[in-house]
Amino acid sequence: MSTLDSILKETRSFAPSDEFRRKAAISGMEAYNALCEQADDHYLSFWGDLARELITWKKPFSRVLDDSQAPFFKWFDDGVLNASYNCLDRHLAANANKIAIIFEADDGDVTRVTYAELHRRVCQFANGLKSLGVAKGDRVVVYMPMGIEAVVAMQACARIGAIHSVVFGGFSAGAVRDRIQDAGATVVITANEGLRGGKSVPLKSTVDEALTLEGAESIKHVVVYQRTNGGADWTDGRDVWWHKLIEGQSEACEPEWMNAEDPLFILYTSGSTGKPKGIQHSTAGYLLGAINSFRWVFDYKPNDVFWCTADVGWITGHSYVCYGPLANGATQVIFEGVPTYPDAGRFWRMIEKHKVSIFYTAPTAIRSLIKLGADLPKQFDLSSLRVLGTVGEPINPEAWIWYYETVGGGRCPIVDTWWQTETGSAMIAPLPGAVATKPGSCTLPLPGVIADIVDESGAQVEPGRGGFLVIKKPFPSLVRTIWNDPDRFKKTYFPDEFNGQYYLAGDSANRDENGYFWIMGRIDDVLNVSGHRLGTMEIESALVANPLVAEAAVVGKPHDVKGEAVVAFVVLKGARPQGDAAKTVAAELKNWVAHEIGKIAQPDDIRFGENLPKTRSGKIMRRLLRSIAKGEEITQDVSTLENPQILQQLQQPL
Ligand code: ATP
Ligand code: MG
Repeated sequence: MSTLDSILKETRSFAPSDEFRRKAAISGMEAYNALCEQADDHYLSFWGDLARELITWKKPFSRVLDDSQAPFFKWFDDGVLNASYNCLDRHLAANANKIAIIFEADDGDVTRVTYAELHRRVCQFANGLKSLGVAKGDRVVVYMPMGIEAVVAMQACARIGAIHSVVFGGFSAGAVRDRIQDAGATVVITANEGLRGGKSVPLKSTVDEALTLEGAESIKHVVVYQRTNGGADWTDGRDVWWHKLIEGQSEACEPEWMNAEDPLFILYTSGSTGKPKGIQHSTAGYLLGAINSFRWVFDYKPNDVFWCTADVGWITGHSYVCYGPLANGATQVIFEGVPTYPDAGRFWRMIEKHKVSIFYTAPTAIRSLIKLGADLPKQFDLSSLRVLGTVGEPINPEAWIWYYETVGGGRCPIVDTWWQTETGSAMIAPLPGAVATKPGSCTLPLPGVIADIVDESGAQVEPGRGGFLVIKKPFPSLVRTIWNDPDRFKKTYFPDEFNGQYYLAGDSANRDENGYFWIMGRIDDVLNVSGHRLGTMEIESALVANPLVAEAAVVGKPHDVKGEAVVAFVVLKGARPQGDAAKTVAAELKNWVAHEIGKIAQPDDIRFGENLPKTRSGKIMRRLLRSIAKGEEITQDVSTLENPQILQQLQQPL
């Protein structure tokens, strides 16, 4: 890819209110710029100082960065610490009785646990794992419903130095087996079943099935949390109930003291662009990223009630449920269910009930809630909110504006956070008391993140042109390697084309005249129409700006004259149109795009669906749509696809 053409112009801008800015920890652009300069001038001491300030070390480190084996970087590598100690023990002196977790179950039942109680539960469960022979360095698969126990399981692993690999509780037996096999896990922690949207989700039986498949032989024990009264099939000697395991176990457990570079966890990527990658994170660098970004990006204050809606099966649920909030001693909401049950007002009702002040969710949830009830938030008292966040995909400006006005009452900065499983923590996002926001832009890098946009020779591209998004310096919370596959790690993220110097994120982006970053889409998804190279995001945003449209995804298909033609897959706010009605709407949308951003981006072909193919983490899988647009059979990895049935619908031409 050389450069990309940017076609969508978004000019709205929202500065933080005077009141918000005055109270913010990083207040105003001077403060932001001063931090950036500090990081530019003294990169290593900038991160070294933060690591000393924010992490409690058992033994301090003497060196910040070892880059002798680049791109296999080591940070703080002779330091000794424990992540669970940093999330729990160190709060006990001053905040033992502070609420750590407000858990709301699918049926609305609420449970609160304090830091002291969470600490006791983690210690007990950690001792239980030890009694099964789990030791430092062992891999443990966590396949749990969202809840307090999922966090306890992860924290207990961290406490004893076991490497957790959380697998989202909606994945199939095959996907569970793949991750067990790749990680060489010895224990699975699961529940008899989960509850989502009033329905039971089979967990234990899926694990049972996974363990009959070839490749899962490394598993010695399955620990089963009894979430419901339902039973479970049992394999004696292998299976053990959670409540039996902790019976009689001590409520104290000395943490295993870990080296900074010991792996904390493995987590597989969402699989939007191909087969999932086993991302390996370090203990200290990762933790530093989670702690620091949490306090900066959300302008966290001790009396906040934080709610991140992500499942612990994704990186967002690692950094902003399990580690970031706890290491900062925050109070957070954890939710078991889905945003649409018992109705599409669930999120708003919960914000009102728990007086949530910081709310962090995904564009896919926002778009679906607009579709199901754009006026619903107005029925609730959302005045406790002060910061709103989004992550996972680019947010279309129209959805952003709705979030800002209808949910945030025009009062709450929106932090659009760009980051990845690989980066471990937010990289490009507005610091809400400093950086003015623009709908659809993730704005500016956090201080200490040296992000840029370059062409294929590694040279910076001019403002307004798109190119490869790169991080130009190693970063504490960056992926250390792909588990078992250092070659794929090097090829994917530090390819020779860039002299192995820059971390290649795999996304395309452009910067505007203010230096703001706009994510344009995945590198793999770039379109080439009549010699113009276009990202997917801008055309999709133009479509979503039409009042009829809830969601859109565009891909290219080969075209004799233009090279590639644009094909759009569209979900309307109303019912899926058919026959002549579909043709009429399609013509209207084609004209709309031509009018909004120009003829060049006008779709040749539009298909309507009730939904789009999405990963289990809610991201659009454009690679499947590309095959559909070309009329090809789908032969790719679909192990993380949420809704296979939708493919057939989208295969039908108008
Ligand atoms: P795979 O790497 O297996 O294809 P994935 O990239 O979807 O899966 P994740 O690590 O969960 O897996 O997602 C990271 C990607 O999500 C980013 O590379 C980017 O494309 C997208 N993304 C995340 N946050 C934002 C954001 N705020 N704006 C735009 N895109 C975002
Ligand atoms: Mg990715």
